[in-house]
Amino acid sequence: MPLQNLHTHTVFSDGKNTAEEMVQGALRSGCTSLGFSEHSPLSCDADPDGYTMRPEKVPAYRAEVLRMRENYAGQLEIFLGLEQDIDSAPPLDCYDYLIGSVHGVWKDGIYLPVDESRDVLMGAVEEHYDGDFYGFVWDYYRREAEVFEKTGCQIIGHFDLVTKFNEDGRLFREDEPRYRNIALEALETLLQNDVIFEINTGAMSWGYRTAPYPAAAFLKFIREKHGRICIASDSHSADTLTFAFNQAAELARACGFHETAVLTRDGFQTQKL
Ligand SMILES: [Zn+2]
Ligand SMILES: [Zn+2]
Repeated sequence: MPLQNLHTHTVFSDGKNTAEEMVQGALRSGCTSLGFSEHSPLSCDADPDGYTMRPEKVPAYRAEVLRMRENYAGQLEIFLGLEQDIDSAPPLDCYDYLIGSVHGVWKDGIYLPVDESRDVLMGAVEEHYDGDFYGFVWDYYRREAEVFEKTGCQIIGHFDLVTKFNEDGRLFREDEPRYRNIALEALETLLQNDVIFEINTGAMSWGYRTAPYPAAAFLKFIREKHGRICIASDSHSADTLTFAFNQAAELARACGFHETAVLTRDGFQTQKL
């Protein structure tokens, strides 16, 4: 299995390590290539705590990744990417790739983050949806369905992020048609485009989940529709760069995939899983 991680964060946004520390972590983990995908800048309304990259830091981020590419040429293939939030303005510069992500929904003119914490999520649903999680996930997947169109991404980030705090099923039932159907509808829309769905182990590395996104049922659907996947850890530190990659690959194989998409200097190619 190719050890490539295209979903990583550094101190330019909410990551723990510098770009160089991530490069060294990737070399230690045996990665053959590494992509940086800092959070695209968001307005204060959607990011009051400042977890995304500030717009004035973008030039320094780009310069630092390109410096790493040059300094580590021959040791590690390095790509310059961006995790482009559906609510961010389009990037001003060119990137090797974009990951398109939804991190929240707008309701009553207020931004409700999906993945901040279980308490924040429960409070938001209580206040703005009268406690109806199915109403909330409906709005989430309607946005998710638009993430390619709005961001022009090559990779769909954490498709079912809305399940981050729901492993015990306490918030909503993931086998309920009310949940399943709206998610499948979003998948169907996204699959009309040439996009890659990442199998994302980030919530596993934080200890919130024991399985990656997307859920097996969605991966099987992607496979049936001849969609493509890649494996990433949404890493916020140098020691989680290949976190649970083997488990993600096993899940992919169990869902019928034999190949994974890998970014090369000549674009995305498929390689044996
Ligand atoms: Zn994300
Ligand atoms: Zn991320």
